[in-house]
This record gives sequence, C-alpha cells and structure tokens, in this order.
Amino acid sequence: MKTQDYIALEEQYGAHNYHPLDVVITRGDGVWVYDVDGKKYLDCLSAYSAVNQGHVHPKILAALVEQAGKVTLTSRAFRNDQLPLLYQELSELTGYEMSLPMNSGAEAVETALKIARKWAYQVKKVPRHQAEIITCAGNFHGRTISTISFSTEPLYRDDFGPFTPGFVTVPYGDAEAIAKAITPNTAAVLLEPIQGEGGVIIPPKGYLQKVAELCKRNNVLFIADEIQTGLGRTGKLFAAQHEDVRPDVTVIGKALAGGFYPVSAVLSDKEILGLFTPGEHGSTFGGNPLAAAVARAALKVIVDENLVQRSAEMGEYFVEQLSEIPSPHVKEVRGKGLLIGVELNANAGGARRFCEALQQKGILAKETHDRVIRFAPPLVIDKDTIDWALPSIRAALNMV
Ligand SMILES: *Cc1c(COP(=O)(O)O)cnc(C)c1O
Repeated sequence: MKTQDYIALEEQYGAHNYHPLDVVITRGDGVWVYDVDGKKYLDCLSAYSAVNQGHVHPKILAALVEQAGKVTLTSRAFRNDQLPLLYQELSELTGYEMSLPMNSGAEAVETALKIARKWAYQVKKVPRHQAEIITCAGNFHGRTISTISFSTEPLYRDDFGPFTPGFVTVPYGDAEAIAKAITPNTAAVLLEPIQGEGGVIIPPKGYLQKVAELCKRNNVLFIADEIQTGLGRTGKLFAAQHEDVRPDVTVIGKALAGGFYPVSAVLSDKEILGLFTPGEHGSTFGGNPLAAAVARAALKVIVDENLVQRSAEMGEYFVEQLSEIPSPHVKEVRGKGLLIGVELNANAGGARRFCEALQQKGILAKETHDRVIRFAPPLVIDKDTIDWALPSIRAALNMV
C-alpha cells in the first residue's frame, strides 16, 4: 500500500477530527521518522512533546517489553510492584511529596480540578459547590467537557455546550486581572507557564512569581499545567522554574512515558493530594504496572541523558539561528528551550502552507493557531541536525 491508499482508508473510515499533513509514518528512530514510501523526516513536533526522549528510545522500549512479559494491568483493586517505585522516583525528581497517576493529560487536569475543589470545601471552607477556578484566555487543557468549558477557542466549544460551571476566565499574562477575579470562593488558578497550543505564548517576566504570590496571599491553589512544557521541554525540568516558582499542584503527561504509552500524573503535597479518600476518584488503567515501568524508564532517560540541559543549549542555538533567517513573512521568533514558535505576519497566507513546504524538504512541523509554526524536536537533537535543517527552513520561510 502507498501513501494515498492509507489516506483514502483513513478518510473513509475515520472521524475527521484532525487535519494531518499527508505523510504516513511507519517507523521512528530518535529525531527521525520514516514514511511508507521510505522518505526520511526530521520530527519537529515530537507528538506535541510526548517524545522528548526521541522515537523508540531503546531503554524505554526495553522496559516496556520486559514489563509487558510480566504483568500489564492489575487495576488499583490490587497493588503492583512498579507503581510504588514510580511514586518514589517522581517525588525525588520533582520535590513534590505525592502524585496521582492517570492516563491522558486531560484526565490529569480534571483530577487537579477535582482535588482543588475538595481542598476548597474541606480546608478553605468555601460553601459546598460554590468553588471557583480561575483560568486564562488562550488556554489549552484538553478536550473533555470541563476543560473545553473554560476554553476561549470557538472551534473547541461552539457545538459542545452546555458547559461545566465554576470557571472564570481572565487574560493570560495579566496578574492584575487574576487579583481582580479572586473572591472568597476561589479555589485555584489554573494556567500553563507557557501556552503551547495557544501559539507558544511566553508571559511577561515576573508573571508567574506574581501569580504565585497572589495565590499564597489569598489562600488559593496555584495549579500549573506542565503537560507540554514540563519534563525538560523548555530547558528546565518545569517551565515554572524559569521564575523559581513552585506551584501547589503541577500536572504532567505526554513525555512522562516518552511516547510509548499514555501516562499522566498530578504532583502535589500531602496536605492537598492527601485529601482524596478511597473511592472518590480513580481510573482502571491509571497507575498500571506497564505504565509505571515505562514512565520510570522515561524519567530515567531524561535524567541520565541530561535532556533538560540539552534542551536549554540546543534551544538557545536553534532560536538564535532561526532569528537570523531573513524572511518577509516572519513577525517574531520566540521560545524557551526547545519549545519554539515562529509567528508569521498576517499577510503570510497562514502557517499551514509553510508546514507543507517544510514537509517536502523532509521536516515535519505543525502549525498552531493559523499563524505560528512550532519547532519542538525531540530533546536528543544535536547541533549538526539543527544545522542540517536550517537551509530548508530558510528556503521555506522565503517562499512567495
Ligand atoms: C496536550 C495537552 C493537554 C491534554 O493532554 P491529552 O493527553 O491530549 O489529554 C493538556 N494540557 C496541555 C498544556 C497540553 O499541551
């Protein structure tokens, strides 16, 4: 079967909830992927930062295969011998006392919202079912009914109401707006330290510090969604660390399992996460031994291969080089670590056509929000590979 045959099947039998580039990938290796016609591409999306460790990392693969041959799913009705070790290793790596494992990122966000509400009722003594959670315009926290309830993107919401109540939305990057929105019923502020899907939006310097102070002063939880920005993507383990901020709750996913498996987690301390009691929350697959073994290996790769430092160094180089490309179409190049956005001018004709041009040249990148091309290769990328890509990027950014 050829590329067009796979595409035809997909179009006929699959729901059309994505508009993928017409490349049919059959194999991946490190920063590279290969299509069914044998063409090789540099992956500059990393599955939205889920494959920070590179495709089919041999150490994670070995952990997956080994655990798959032992036991894969026990449910949390019984204990298994991998999850406790994942808990311990997560705590040692992140400094949070506890964690709660889920599968997708959206589920972990939902979990964080639930624990924030419980904390509001049990600890802050907000009247039951009156808790408010402050969120930011331009956010992306997943696709569940509750997470789209506070989305400001019409495409994500328009036909999907009625929505979950209890959320307030303020502009992103504006700490004063959060201060004004806080009421005695506010349980939490939920935000991304850098908005990834929103177009690689980096808030003004000092914003996260101010939000953390506001939360502390008003007895409000600070929840950081680091599903995309966490685990090294921005050149720190967590993006909030660029401002020396330690949120009360951090949500992770994506790279937590290096692209092998859906694993997410809510990280926090005992006084918050310890409020859950048996039966209040759960997941059949959350914390299963296969997921835990894979996540343990994926975390170990991040540490052993110094991927956080590498992201900082390679990201700085990549941004510097991209910034030097003369182009009539580019409005701004911005990024932290290897989370990089190239914003195009309004008259550039949209980012999609540039992504298609890059695809022709063997580079896979994806537009986010029409006008931004995101460059977020696996963190294992080296300088030679960046240098290989630059002439093609330069040519694409200069097409008419
Ligand atoms: C990807 C993402 C999510 C949702 O994760 P899923 O695994 O797709 O449910 C939530 N928040 C942020 C910031 C993300 O980038």
